[in-house]
Amino acid sequence: MTRLAQTAGLNDVQREILSTVRDFVDKEIIPVATGLEHRDEYPTEIVEGLKELGLFGLMIPEEYGGLGESLLTYALCVEEIARGWMSVSGIINTHFIVAYMLKQHGTQEQKDTFLPRMALGEVRGAFSMSEPALGSDVSAITSKGVRDGEEYVLNGQKMWLTNGGTSSLVAVLCRSDEGHPEGTAPHKSMTTFLVEKEPGFGEVLPGLTIPGKIDKMGYKGVDTTELIMDGLRIPANRVLGGTTGRGFYQMMDGVEVGRVNVAARGCGVAQRAFELGVSYAQQRQTFGKPIAQHQAIQFKLAEMATKVEAAHAMMVNAARKKDSGERNDLEAGMAKYLASEYCKEVVEDAFRIHGGYGFSKEYEIERLYREAPMLLIGEGTAEIQKMIIGRRLLEEYRIQG
Ligand SMILES: Cc1cc2nc3c(=O)[nH]c(=O)nc-3n(C[C@H](O)[C@H](O)[C@H](O)COP(=O)(O)OP(=O)(O)OC[C@H]3O[C@@H](n4cnc5c(N)ncnc54)[C@H](O)[C@@H]3O)c2cc1C
Repeated sequence: MTRLAQTAGLNDVQREILSTVRDFVDKEIIPVATGLEHRDEYPTEIVEGLKELGLFGLMIPEEYGGLGESLLTYALCVEEIARGWMSVSGIINTHFIVAYMLKQHGTQEQKDTFLPRMALGEVRGAFSMSEPALGSDVSAITSKGVRDGEEYVLNGQKMWLTNGGTSSLVAVLCRSDEGHPEGTAPHKSMTTFLVEKEPGFGEVLPGLTIPGKIDKMGYKGVDTTELIMDGLRIPANRVLGGTTGRGFYQMMDGVEVGRVNVAARGCGVAQRAFELGVSYAQQRQTFGKPIAQHQAIQFKLAEMATKVEAAHAMMVNAARKKDSGERNDLEAGMAKYLASEYCKEVVEDAFRIHGGYGFSKEYEIERLYREAPMLLIGEGTAEIQKMIIGRRLLEEYRIQG
């Protein structure tokens, strides 16, 4: 079932990578995903397989041991993986964002220290902006880093870290007033700190606690945690890029590529929902014929497939724009917004096609139904995407006079 969501203009290497990933998804992920998800179990074997495929280093430059691939290749791989199980794409997504931020903004020493081990999946990344009292409003961050000799002392509570427990490198956004006097604009007085830690829960370092997994309605298997810093000391050379005050811009750069990624996840989940719906519709009989022969169901399939195609096209466009070196915040915002909304709608339609069985945990669509809403929130909610899109449109279409 590969007629939908084709991508024109891929080179041989991209086609080969995607075919390998699709094969891995069909054989190693889809058969076990729902069972693992229901048990909220970390997919250790799948992660080992991803390491072997080199996916943790897909976009890391070859000089650091990665595959040096484009954002498009990466996004298409994420789409395939999310088609199998969205949680697995979550495991590589924050890793990818941190590696990207290091590549774009890290000092040479930081790149040399982390990127080769990140490419192998030995060091795994998480990124942390959100706090208990804020998610969309990043300017309201209260966690703080204060310089003390050759170290920084970090205090504050962070919320919703994807891979918070399993990661060993967390990019943490804090306020830092060193050199930024009282009254400095919030986005100019933030710093990204690179916090190295052991994977696990509890007090993983003196002054750093990962309390445990947050119990979620879906997106299970992957750990999502809080992070508490209480006098956590880190060396001064672990300020991303070596200079304080740039954290907000670094994080927004990371989130921008992350948005293409979330769009890709929406595409993958929607594709799987379509596959499940179109298959079930040909098997279930009502009133003497398969329900696929009722026009109302055909119309649903037509709408679902059209949404899958449209979301895929916008996601590919946003990735290609970034790869060409151009600003892509408008395209990434549009792709993330559309793909996540369409994903929710396609999943809902596939669920309806399943009738009562869609409500049974035996059917895969039940899992997708609980996963799709996460995409409406992560990497900026729909409202935040619309704010970004609206502002950019007014920049582009400003009238003279
Ligand atoms: C499973 C999961 C994993 C996550 N992983 C991470 C992670 O790895 N790292 C990380 O830093 N964060 C992570 N997050 C946090 C996520 O980024 C935030 O939840 C998200 O940005 C929304 O923030 P919030 O939950 O505080 O909602 P709020 O910002 O409180 O928003 C609540 C509602 O108000 C709306 N709203 C807010 N401001 C406006 C406005 N100006 N105009 C109109 N409407 C508005 C929002 O759209 C939303 O509908 C994760 C969240 C979840 C659920």
